[in-house]
Amino acid sequence: MKAMNADLHCHSTVSDGLMSPTALVERAKNNGVDLLALTDHDEIGGLDEASKVADHLGLRFVTGTEISVSWGDDQTVHIVGLNFDHRHPELVAGLGRVRGGRDARAGRMAAELAKVGIDDAYAGALKHAGNPALLSRSHFARYIVERGFARDVKTVFDHWLAKGKPGYVSHPWAELPEALGWIKAAGGVAVIAHPGRYRLTPAERRELFVTFKELGGAGIEVISGSHNEAAVREFAGIAREFGFLASRASDFHGPGESYIDLGRMAVLPDDLKPVWAEWV
Ligand code: AMP
Ligand code: MN
Ligand code: MN
Ligand code: MN
Repeated sequence: MKAMNADLHCHSTVSDGLMSPTALVERAKNNGVDLLALTDHDEIGGLDEASKVADHLGLRFVTGTEISVSWGDDQTVHIVGLNFDHRHPELVAGLGRVRGGRDARAGRMAAELAKVGIDDAYAGALKHAGNPALLSRSHFARYIVERGFARDVKTVFDHWLAKGKPGYVSHPWAELPEALGWIKAAGGVAVIAHPGRYRLTPAERRELFVTFKELGGAGIEVISGSHNEAAVREFAGIAREFGFLASRASDFHGPGESYIDLGRMAVLPDDLKPVWAEWV
């Protein structure tokens, strides 16, 4: 039997993606995706549109969001919530609060960037984001490329926006227990996004998995656009050890800005239980 082509992590223009929810779902369908979740950063505003288009195209769709969480000593981890009631008031209010911090953070980022000669970055990033509550480092990166300071978005992160670089500012996102609480209240499943991306020591990484599990977290992205083969092996091992459900995720943001296209990832190791096993 052909494996289910599930892609449970991607972004639209309702966060820092380049395509509208409609265009994204159409692209997923064309790429042979069977089951899709749209997971905009701290946002659920694209879900109704995406779900409607998916229904129309006969593509299975579940709700999603990617919550920004502060962890440890000024680290950020991302928790994907899947298959929840996106009208649940606790979730809606919690995500609204997280987004509410983005505008002020963007102001502080712009002030830091001005000190290193990149002017007008707030207005420039806002043109890309369209809405102050969506302002992300990706929008700053696009503005900095547009101004000719760097040739691509990745270079911008390496020089200005990654932690420790001049345009990076620390910011309080959600706490892990509250993020998991919102997802649970709304009836969803919580999944650790791209665990291979965090610059955590092995001990800090284990602590994240242990705490996540204690708080009721159930899944981990084993296949991710951010994972090479070694990372897939490592996090498949973590899924086995902790009994986590395994997710499969492109983290697609748009053509030319992502390592991997919608649905074009490797399949999950076949001994792992997919996060979607009970939905389909
Ligand atoms: P923010 O939530 O504003 O901190 O922005 C985080 C987003 O920036 C991530 O979701 C990615 O889309 C993007 N990002 C982070 N690091 C990189 C990188 N090294 N290269 C390209 N994009 C990145
Ligand atoms: Mn992003
Ligand atoms: Mn992420
Ligand atoms: Mn993402």
